[in-house]
Amino acid sequence: MFSKVSKAGLIIVSLFLLLSCSQQAQYQHLSGATMGTRYNISAALPQGVSKAAVQQQIDKQLENINHSMSTWRDDSLISQFNQAAVGTSLEVDADFIAVLDISRHVYQASAGAFNPAIGALVDLWGFGPRLSVAQLQSIPSEEAIAEAMQNSVFSSLTNKGLLLKKNSNIRLDFSAVAKGYGVDVLAKVLRDFGVVHYMVEIGGEIATLGNNPKGKAWRIGIESPENVRGQLITAVSVHQAAMATSGDYRNFFDIDGQHYSHTIDPRTGKPISNPLASVTVMADSVALADAWATALTVMGEKQALEVAEALNLAVYLISHKDGEFVSRYSTAMKAYLN
Ligand code: ADP
Ligand code: MG
Repeated sequence: MFSKVSKAGLIIVSLFLLLSCSQQAQYQHLSGATMGTRYNISAALPQGVSKAAVQQQIDKQLENINHSMSTWRDDSLISQFNQAAVGTSLEVDADFIAVLDISRHVYQASAGAFNPAIGALVDLWGFGPRLSVAQLQSIPSEEAIAEAMQNSVFSSLTNKGLLLKKNSNIRLDFSAVAKGYGVDVLAKVLRDFGVVHYMVEIGGEIATLGNNPKGKAWRIGIESPENVRGQLITAVSVHQAAMATSGDYRNFFDIDGQHYSHTIDPRTGKPISNPLASVTVMADSVALADAWATALTVMGEKQALEVAEALNLAVYLISHKDGEFVSRYSTAMKAYLN
């Protein structure tokens, strides 16, 4: 009657060629656990740059980001802010403010469909660190939803430089943008080492630059949402890309046959229920793509396509229709499809 399917092995974006043999020995593969998922890097390290040196910087940057914005750590800056009393201020770090600024931008541009102040609602529905979905016995009451919505008003937080002030009992949640931001940071680490050919991926969010080990543009597949064998719906060829995907099948729970997504519509306070199966966005940064993928997932296919056209966003949508998958994409996405 109650089952949880967490981030299953259904990673939506397949990184083919990543593990393919390379004639050029300087392509190195680095991977590890982070943010409740894994990161994968394929990069052509210039002569004189050791894999160990790169690994050390990557570990350091990931630790910084997790210390800054992981809601799963009690001592992170975001957890300290969330636990702080109303009216107090906290000094955060530059990563935190960078993600806050991107979040504010997408919050405004999406008319609140993306909302980083959604922590209370995420906890209420069992997707946060406070309550796991396995403990959620029934859906929350309307009163509890209304109260959590009152605590999810993003405008009740202000910052002056790194000093962040809490004007209400809000709880921040950067989960919908942090993986993308992490990819941007790791990509910068590589560029700072002089790397000009790389692919960086955290949990399906991807940045690429230059060529793959075969000397061609990186090819990134968009997988069929329910195809365990990794059959691709389409693929994009890119020398330079920042891409993120949100999918309704990656993290959800069922109560009495009803499917509840981990993406919440801030305007209703409830998990979304629309036919969108996955949303892929290409943008100037992976953090932006990640936030927009969540925003468009909340909006649903029709509004998502309207907004994508109005803002010239490159968006690829896969929807459930009559037991099948239907793909639609925006004009800006056409340039990437071949
Ligand atoms: P996906 O795994 O589908 O790509 P993300 O990991 O990017 O999704 O984001 C999902 C997480 O974002 C949720 O678990 C929750 O913590 C948070 N979240 C849910 N709804 C929203 C929303 N409307 N705006 C911002 N963050 C959200
Ligand atoms: Mg996202």
